[in-house]
Amino acid sequence: MSALIESVAVVGAGTMGNGIAQVFATSGSRVLLVDAAEAALERGVGAIEKSLGRLVKKEKISAADAAAALARISKSTSLTDLSDQELVVEAIVEKLEVKAAVFSELDQRARPDAILASNTSSISITEIAARTQRADKVIGMHFMNPVPLMTLVEVIRGHETSDATTDKVVACSRALGKEPVPANDYPGFVSNRILMPMINEAVFCLMDGVATREGIDTVMKLGMNHPMGPLTLADLIGLDVCLDILEVLHRGLGDDKYRPCPLLRRMVAAGRLGRKSGKGFYDYG
Ligand code: NAD
Repeated sequence: MSALIESVAVVGAGTMGNGIAQVFATSGSRVLLVDAAEAALERGVGAIEKSLGRLVKKEKISAADAAAALARISKSTSLTDLSDQELVVEAIVEKLEVKAAVFSELDQRARPDAILASNTSSISITEIAARTQRADKVIGMHFMNPVPLMTLVEVIRGHETSDATTDKVVACSRALGKEPVPANDYPGFVSNRILMPMINEAVFCLMDGVATREGIDTVMKLGMNHPMGPLTLADLIGLDVCLDILEVLHRGLGDDKYRPCPLLRRMVAAGRLGRKSGKGFYDYG
């Protein structure tokens, strides 16, 4: 299989990072998966193995292709192992300062012509790019969860992102079998500017006792034809990720309509983060 991108690094092996690594590996790229936490790296590769296993069971890919994809993934706990990658996709925590520190290190360690992409849900690509000496090669590549199944990639141009970088990321997204949609760099871009206020309002409905969690989700499923209710979706995304994105919208757009619901804050403080912690609005014991 000849991949459009021969060699890619994915930084962050969590919910999104392991999915991103999987789609690159199945499309033929060599992937270096990096996570600061050894345990997260092990969990990430375990999740890829499971996901490939499910695809084999459903006869979406052959067992041989799944094994070949897995063999293309190597792992590391350090960015010092970066070498010849043409593209780096960052998928670590949704905090500007943490991402900025990683981008400044990536700028030092990645090949000078490498594109540095962020899977950020809401943080300014322009601000991240400003921490590097290659702002023209920094871009948003916003995959959706679960990455192997969802076809959208929101491609976000920062203030200095070049046409060449954008064209390459659009072509690369297509080569992964995804549908790229270009967007400009405003808080939350398109997807989360629309989605997060809806999720937040669902949490307000729950806090105000307008309906039960099942009631709220059922209204949106049956009444609006959404494939899953907003509270179920929040659990899938991660309540900490939802809260971080709402903070970015609130600060970045300066409008109180984006203020995070106090119940969402309380659940995050209690460690109820959704599926990944076993409990969110629902229990996943
Ligand atoms: P996650 O918490 O599941 O995973 C983040 C991983 O990053 C963890 O494994 C952590 O160990 C690692 N990490 C943290 N700091 C690091 C560092 N400095 N260097 C290397 N690794 C580090 O988070 P996630 O849900 O996968 O989200 C990752 C990014 O993707 C965020 O920017 C988020 O906004 C975005 N995103 C999330 C979703 C979603 O549905 N969860 C959807 C689209 C985009």
